[in-house]
Amino acid sequence: MPRFRRVLSTMPTYKAGKAVVAPDGRSFKLSSNETPYEPLPSVLEAITKAAAEMHRYPDPGVSALTEALAERYGVPESHVALGAGSVGVAQQILETVGEPGCEVVYAWRSFEAYPLLADLSGATSVTVPLKDETHDLEAMADAITADTGLIFVCNPNNPTGTANRSTELAAFLDRVPSDVLVILDEAYREFVTDADVPDGLTIYRERPNVAVLRTFSKAYGLAGLRVGYLIGPEPVADAVRKTMMPFAVNHLAQAAACASLKAEDELLERVDLIVKERARVREALISQGYAIPVSEANFVWMRLGDRTQAFAEHCAGYGVAVRPFGAEGARVSIGDPAANDAFLSATASFGPASTG
Ligand SMILES: *Cc1c(COP(=O)(O)O)cnc(C)c1O
Repeated sequence: MPRFRRVLSTMPTYKAGKAVVAPDGRSFKLSSNETPYEPLPSVLEAITKAAAEMHRYPDPGVSALTEALAERYGVPESHVALGAGSVGVAQQILETVGEPGCEVVYAWRSFEAYPLLADLSGATSVTVPLKDETHDLEAMADAITADTGLIFVCNPNNPTGTANRSTELAAFLDRVPSDVLVILDEAYREFVTDADVPDGLTIYRERPNVAVLRTFSKAYGLAGLRVGYLIGPEPVADAVRKTMMPFAVNHLAQAAACASLKAEDELLERVDLIVKERARVREALISQGYAIPVSEANFVWMRLGDRTQAFAEHCAGYGVAVRPFGAEGARVSIGDPAANDAFLSATASFGPASTG
């Protein structure tokens, strides 16, 4: 047998989630925070056109999309770096700072890719428990040592949906040494409605060690094409561009992302619908007796403790796939009204009893 890197033996083998179908044939996927809406015709058309050119390599510099993003956000092109999804960009970030001896600080529970990517880079994860389902920024600042190289702040947080506010974030960033990179992971930024939750792009303009991670996978509906980006100070963006796997952003992905930026108004109308459904679902769950934190994202979090797995199985009986996390809780994406209704029927019959 070949000898593998030692870190691999500590990493879980990937297990694919099963599709969930109710006895009556209904099936709703509320497990991956995707948009329930199909691609816009204009975006499909751009992809179809690009498909006719796929015997050619993609543009290695992803120049059309870089230019479009720079214009969209009013930043220099040199501040933009792209990757195969924002997970791809996060991996590139780890490639720029992560190495044995380097500590990566993040909240837990948070996005599942952080520990995997930190492990792969050889860095050491330093996790800081959530407080009231939210990043405990004071404790995260306390966790910084001379070896800290990178901090992820997932705002809003996956899987709890909670967000940190401007004042506490500024107080936290004031305590981070200037040679420690802070990544504000804003995969769900478009779903934020609380005006007190800061836009990371405002923060990055004021702080040379802060960069923002965003994606086309969620609000823009391109999860299947894999395109995400970083906007950050030039040295950070330069480094992250260096560690991109050549051609990581493929030709169809670039075409689709450019078309999506052009159709942004239409896509953001869909975000409004999801945000309305988010309020409806949360209120219904609360009236059923569940405790649900305020979500600024396109999902809700249910802390169900040791009933979590039973809850996921119960929802499966209704054709609803949710995302259970061990004996902690379940994350449930907001879908279209029919999917949300199916989910709420499942929660009504499960009952909130003994959730604490
Ligand atoms: C979904 C998600 C992403 C986006 O991943 P992609 O690779 O862009 O699809 C990034 N960060 C968080 C916290 C997420 O939940």
